[in-house]
Amino acid sequence: MVFTDEQQEFAASVKSFCARECGTREQRAALTDGFTVANSHALLERFGELGWLGVSVPQEYGGAGAGMVEECIFLEETCRGHAPIHGYSTALTAGQTYMRWGTPEQNRKVMGGICRGRLEAIALSEPGAGSDLGSARCAARREGDEYVINGQKTWISVAHESDHLLTFVRTDSGGAKHDGLTFLMVPTDTPGVEIREVEVMIPRVVNDVFYTDVRVPASAVVGEDGRAWSQLMRGLAIERLIIAVMAVGYAARSLDDTIAYMKEREQFGRPLSKFQALRHRVADMATEIACCRALVYDIAQKIDAGQEDALSTESSMAKMKCTETAKLAALEGMQLMGGYGYAVEYGMEEQVRQALVPPIYGGTNEIQREIISKNLGL
Ligand SMILES: Cc1cc2nc3c(=O)[nH]c(=O)nc-3n(C[C@H](O)[C@H](O)[C@H](O)COP(=O)(O)OP(=O)(O)OC[C@H]3O[C@@H](n4cnc5c(N)ncnc54)[C@H](O)[C@@H]3O)c2cc1C
Repeated sequence: MVFTDEQQEFAASVKSFCARECGTREQRAALTDGFTVANSHALLERFGELGWLGVSVPQEYGGAGAGMVEECIFLEETCRGHAPIHGYSTALTAGQTYMRWGTPEQNRKVMGGICRGRLEAIALSEPGAGSDLGSARCAARREGDEYVINGQKTWISVAHESDHLLTFVRTDSGGAKHDGLTFLMVPTDTPGVEIREVEVMIPRVVNDVFYTDVRVPASAVVGEDGRAWSQLMRGLAIERLIIAVMAVGYAARSLDDTIAYMKEREQFGRPLSKFQALRHRVADMATEIACCRALVYDIAQKIDAGQEDALSTESSMAKMKCTETAKLAALEGMQLMGGYGYAVEYGMEEQVRQALVPPIYGGTNEIQREIISKNLGL
């Protein structure tokens, strides 16, 4: 797609901000307490002040009132620029559900916070319910004007830094598997909520969340009691697009770093970039990334044109293809940089660790293939 002048300027501004503020490893170490945390709240707040967070959020809730194309530009450039604000994408994903189904009051709280740099979590997965989310068992029973929640969620990104947990609970176990599920907005400081870190390959991102007799008012329902499954399904195109465009940013960064290194490093009397066997692999990588970018911005443009509900196949394709391309780009980058690709100082190992997980979360790529196959009538 062709960006407007305004969109091009926006991309250039985000890019140069990231190069200036988090372009070096030292700057990123300072922003993340020596790489011990994934999100810099100081940076999030600055992005909020610049009006770049919630660029797609309506102005009445504190956003800029632009569209998904602008949101994708921001996500791509901040991932490409290594900005340590990964939790923003989780908040944005949770925010999609609030914006579509929440009350104005819920939206003012949640979306207003996201636009200022606050984080939000979405708690769907459970120890026994991963790909098969419909088998969720975390339960909420109605008692007068309250719900009482008991159960466990797992793998919950940024729960420890968020204001609320958008919690997917079973409010009725009498009917079919996908009925009786409800979204509740649970403040993280509610008595009975316990958040414990799950250690993974990247620092401090995911958590187990335990709910023991957690009481929230009936007004905490987001959308309709018992309708969370269909609400969840309606928001999936945007969730997959968010993951896809971030993967394009990660892939582009791996490509940028690989090219820079190959021009610099000489062996056998010439730069690596002059070995045909190597440069053709870079050409292939650049081509794959260009195809991914074309697909994500095509989807973003269609969402802005109001066609979101018809994008199940394309958004699954984008999530699958872009995340696999980012993984390949990081692994190719590491191989093409030789031993230096494996060294912490050169950054490609961070790219590899980052690129391994998007094929798993947000619906694994096997599940995306299932969706695509089903939509093809197979
Ligand atoms: C870093 C990270 C962050 C996350 N953040 C969140 C979050 O914020 N909120 C949240 O709710 N969850 C989150 N998750 C959970 C994530 O969405 C799940 O891990 C994912 O959906 C897969 O579920 P599972 O891990 O239970 O794997 P399983 O469902 O047990 O799958 C195991 C393997 O079997 C395959 N498989 C399963 N069923 C099928 C099938 N029908 N056909 C073919 N293959 C199949 C899968 O593709 C996978 O390869 C996160 C996970 C990670 C790792």
